[in-house]
Amino acid sequence: MTRLYNEPAAFADEMIEGFALANSRYVRQVPGGVARATASPEGQVAVVIGGGSGHYPAFGGLVGQGLAHGAAMGNLFASPSTQQVESVAKAASDGGGVLLSYGNYAGDVLNFDAAQDRLRAAGIPTETVTVTDDISSAPLAEKHKRRGIAGDLTVFKSAAAAAEAGYELAEVARVARHANERTRSFGVAFTGCTLPGAAEPLFTVPKGRMAVGMGIHGEPGIDETGVPTADELAELLVSSLLNELPEGVESAQGARVVPILNGLGSVKYEEMFVVYRRIAQLLEAAGLEIVDPHVGEFCTSFDMAGTSLTLFWLDDELERFWNAPADTPAYRKGSVAAAERVQTSADTADSEDRIPDATAESREAAELVLRAVEALSRTIDDNVDDLGRMDAIAGDGDHGIGMQRGAHAALEAARSAQSAGAGAGTVLVLAGDAWAHRAGGTSGALWGVALRSLGLALGDESRPTAASVADGVAAGVAGITSYGKAQVGDKTMVDALVPFTETLTREVAAGASLTEAWTWASEAATSAAAATADLLPRMGRARPHAEKSLGTPDPGAHSFALIVRAVGSVLAAQEERK
Ligand code: ADP
Ligand code: MG
Repeated sequence: MTRLYNEPAAFADEMIEGFALANSRYVRQVPGGVARATASPEGQVAVVIGGGSGHYPAFGGLVGQGLAHGAAMGNLFASPSTQQVESVAKAASDGGGVLLSYGNYAGDVLNFDAAQDRLRAAGIPTETVTVTDDISSAPLAEKHKRRGIAGDLTVFKSAAAAAEAGYELAEVARVARHANERTRSFGVAFTGCTLPGAAEPLFTVPKGRMAVGMGIHGEPGIDETGVPTADELAELLVSSLLNELPEGVESAQGARVVPILNGLGSVKYEEMFVVYRRIAQLLEAAGLEIVDPHVGEFCTSFDMAGTSLTLFWLDDELERFWNAPADTPAYRKGSVAAAERVQTSADTADSEDRIPDATAESREAAELVLRAVEALSRTIDDNVDDLGRMDAIAGDGDHGIGMQRGAHAALEAARSAQSAGAGAGTVLVLAGDAWAHRAGGTSGALWGVALRSLGLALGDESRPTAASVADGVAAGVAGITSYGKAQVGDKTMVDALVPFTETLTREVAAGASLTEAWTWASEAATSAAAATADLLPRMGRARPHAEKSLGTPDPGAHSFALIVRAVGSVLAAQEERK
């Protein structure tokens, strides 16, 4: 249970503000999160980490000399938006490129990948290494699907020490991948956590039971047992991890490992010391050499009761990086060299609001775009409760409010861009950015990508035609599938998007007007969305509860169909006016 908060919706923002104030020696607040308060040498690779808030010291607490250069800090348990990641990376960058590293959750992958594309387009070389240490989250053969938990620390620390040692970007990425390969974790939980203002825990473990391998957001584990003794728990953790030696480690005998016993929130240090006592005995009995053991909190889940053990299998290079000094709010080691403070000037302010020049034709089209955004926002308002109910059946119930937040933000951005003289392309790009930034959730990020791609395809020069709109929609759909990786049949919005874009392109090619083609395409999307009721989800949050959703259409597919129908009426009304 959490007791201290003001407005629950403001919790994350107020937490970040207070965190930065309390740690101004190490970090400075920048749009989207925090960056080091100390200056780094020109040309040094910047290690930028991040994820949802609620996992302190991950991620802001790990920013400072010797560790991360910046952290994008999302809302509670929600990925930071693409803009947040991009903005923190730009603030943290020192001209040597950026390594993005985070815990391999779907929403994070989407937003960090989109930010990576934007950073590269802005001329900042960027690479990504996701952390996949939780061995209970997928079998070894599917290691790339595993989640990142407390092993974040070893990967971030190794990468950052390589950056500090002057390695270039590709080498820093190599070190991070190598550290990730040699980091394995396994965790257990006794209770879930309760977010500020919530009446119920976000997830639960049955009373008197222990969830084995449960994720830090309540993702299903691999087993459930009675609560063991401290020694029995140590045996479970050690035997699970020694079952899976990393590639390159022939035998546990003589291997040097850093054990990290991590508390998830409300398990006390004293309890963990009792568990660690037995862990140390077992590791030594297995012939391992224990190096620099850590017992404490490195990646938490609010007030969740639980603990995880990480083993970091060293080699000479990793051991050198592990031992390098670091000075951050939550992690200190050795002594770092004195560094100048970053000169905080108005360096973050500009660019954002500049509206590129547009032709009269494109500005005229922007008015139509604005009416379309108004119509889609209205239809979401009218259906917000239905969408929430559909998402609650197998997902987390936030699709209605998420879409509403996104649509309202998009409308506000579209209005102000249009009245500032923006062309159709820029209105869509800024609407998409605002949507992704405010909505949260997978669908928000994907709608942001789609509107941005459509806007870039239309541009601010020519009057959009049926063919250019069809091409732009196809680009938007390609954006969604490339970031979201869902295919037709996975029970996502893609099931409605694909028939929509295919019909639109086909009808336009056959000579139909935009309004006619759009109407046919909306009908195809509507029946495809309804037909998702018969599918089992294979992507997104609904996947673990697949069978529950049989008989209910996918909420994202349904909201897409509502939106394209609303936009269709705007097009039809426009045609009549002519
Ligand atoms: P979240 O899943 O983060 O809670 P929302 O509830 O707003 O986000 O949106 C859920 C919808 O997002 C799903 O109904 C589905 O249509 C869509 N979705 C989820 N994952 C993907 C994906 N990988 N690709 C395309 N669409 C997805
Ligand atoms: Mg949801």
